[in-house]
Amino acid sequence: MLDVARVREDFPILGTQVHGCPLVYLDNSATTQVPECVLDRVAGHYRTSNANVHRGMHYLAHASTSALEGARRTVAAFAGAPSEDGVVFTRGTTDALNMVARGLAYLIQPGDRVVVSVMEHHSNYVPWQQLCAERGARFEVVGLDERGDVDLDELARVLDGGTTAAGGPAATADAAGNARGPVRVVALAGCSNVLGSVLPARRVADMAHAAGALFVLDGAQIMRHGVVDMQALGCDYLAFSGHKMMAGTGIGALVGTMGSLELLRPRDFGGEMVGEVTRERTTWDALPLRLEAGTPNYVGAVALAAACDYLNALGRNDVAAWEDELATHALERLRAIDGLHVLGNPRKRCGLVSFTVDGVHPLDLCTLVDARGVALRSGHNCAQPLLDLFGLTSVARLSPAFYNTREEIDYAAEQIECAVTMLRAAR
Ligand code: PMP
Repeated sequence: MLDVARVREDFPILGTQVHGCPLVYLDNSATTQVPECVLDRVAGHYRTSNANVHRGMHYLAHASTSALEGARRTVAAFAGAPSEDGVVFTRGTTDALNMVARGLAYLIQPGDRVVVSVMEHHSNYVPWQQLCAERGARFEVVGLDERGDVDLDELARVLDGGTTAAGGPAATADAAGNARGPVRVVALAGCSNVLGSVLPARRVADMAHAAGALFVLDGAQIMRHGVVDMQALGCDYLAFSGHKMMAGTGIGALVGTMGSLELLRPRDFGGEMVGEVTRERTTWDALPLRLEAGTPNYVGAVALAAACDYLNALGRNDVAAWEDELATHALERLRAIDGLHVLGNPRKRCGLVSFTVDGVHPLDLCTLVDARGVALRSGHNCAQPLLDLFGLTSVARLSPAFYNTREEIDYAAEQIECAVTMLRAAR
């Protein structure tokens, strides 16, 4: 069991006053707050160990490089990577997913297929859509079932050679003249940032692999929520962002099996990723440096490792259990509000609730509750194809983290109810 009152002391920002009210921060699916121990590790690196990495021979260069490589080991263990060389530091999830899509482009032939779902974040949708358009491949967009989970029957049909209703351009014949080529990639979110639906990742990985496809898991929303072991889940690639798991902004990782990372052609070229450069040609360095062109965000990597240590020390299953309890409580409180509709009813929900309210614009609602200290998110949440499916352009989202309390959820629900009453009266 988490001692939430104690945990809150790690996050001084939670004591902020907003318009004269205590901050109730419930926008954790967008970004989580950073604990003191991570801030200390960042400041400590700049204070004692700052130098460029993998280059100099001097004392600080060694100290900085060893901090970066130590961070890589920590992140590898945290994500269940088969090897520390399977961790590529990136700017975040978006960067990691683009790295995979760009890196695999040369393998995608006309008529091949790439599968995503309609509830993907734009970061796991647009890179594949663009790749398919460029390579003459078919972009298959699997729909949802009645609960708001990825429709696994439809996925099975697509993997078996069928196609989706919401597919992209008409299928192009592959080299062998088949109307539908092989599925090369299945790229899905571990948890939808709008519906909160948790993907049965292992099952999907097995389905993808049986069809000969690579499985890419967008881990942005799941990494701080319980133990995420990429090998146990059968991922070829796992992408995630530090700022959604207490590490702060500008850092994330692409974690892969060595075989799948070997498949990636470097997207970025420059310092440190090379073996030998001559006028005629360049050879690449070994993994993972081959995929980390230029000076990496080594202080960000140190922060990410510090956040992993912090979550491990709290107990990752305890973190998930408390976040589940808060989300369930939020669901009950919100469902009791007249005219409020929760999006989706997934079999397994991870830490967030999106909703609409009859006759109330989410933006107005979020503006009014902000005046009472409550931070929610409104908008399309970078998932326009999903919102289109629901005939919406905007939703409100409440997303707790383990440092939130039941009382905060109650307060937020009361403020939402008040705002709804005010907005309806003003109509
Ligand atoms: N995928 C999902 C499911 C997300 O929730 C997010 C962030 N909202 C992203 C990808 C993109 O993450 P980032 O902006 O950190 O690259």
